Amino acid sequence: MSNKILEIQDLTVSFDGFKALNNLNFSMNSGELRVIIGPNGAGKTTFLDVITGKVQPTVGRVLFNGNNLKKTPEYKIARMGIGRKFQTPRVYLNLTVRENLNLVCNRNKNVFSTLFKKPQSTEQRTVAGLLETIGLEAKANAPATLLSHGEKQRLEIGMLVAQSPDLLLVDEPAAGLTDEETENVGSLLLALAESHSIIAIEHDMEFVRQIANDRVTVLHEGSVLCEGTMEEVQNDPRVVEVYLGE
Ligand code: ADP
Repeated sequence: MSNKILEIQDLTVSFDGFKALNNLNFSMNSGELRVIIGPNGAGKTTFLDVITGKVQPTVGRVLFNGNNLKKTPEYKIARMGIGRKFQTPRVYLNLTVRENLNLVCNRNKNVFSTLFKKPQSTEQRTVAGLLETIGLEAKANAPATLLSHGEKQRLEIGMLVAQSPDLLLVDEPAAGLTDEETENVGSLLLALAESHSIIAIEHDMEFVRQIANDRVTVLHEGSVLCEGTMEEVQNDPRVVEVYLGE
């Protein structure tokens, strides 16, 4: 049986004739942490938009666990097991860290009973485990509004992980973070990568160096410019040229 969690074949996405993605091919195995880099306008966000069903391919196909996602609505793709972390954290600011996690751990239950009911012991264990994973045990009872930007990023990643996605898509998690927060988010992604398939889009090269144990894919003008280890990619003259040209 194929171990491929995601396969993107000959993908083109046109906006009024402009090709944001141009005959792009990409494939990843289950369990990999893949990093996508590329200068502004390379097509990175569009790439995630197509995988999550926000944007439809003009040409080509996206296969998730062998299923063609053609015309599948976003909410169904999310239910199929693709979780997306946007650049800006989307957490409930007036709820505590624990309440935010409780909400997603009790996703299919009534929101109000979730908030006001005492959590069951298994749920408590899940939330406790998540708090430990994201390193926010000490802030469990703090309202999310008091968290730093990096802590909010980690909380949102925890909220996504609570939904047990098969594939986690993370859009520039290091944007706007301090060096220390960047390292914390990087460590979290590396820890999650031991049991999850992850695609991270990133601009911050220091961060990419921290998390890129698997292959790095460089996008340029909507296509894959090159793919390889971090070392191979950063020594590729085409990559140097593209980044210097920014
Ligand atoms: P990146 O995330 O790498 O910066 P994007 O995927 O956001 O790149 O954009 C790739 C290109 O497609 C850019 O030139 C952008 O202006 C264009 N683009 C993206 N979305 C749209 C859209 N909805 N309509 C028109 N052009 C778009």
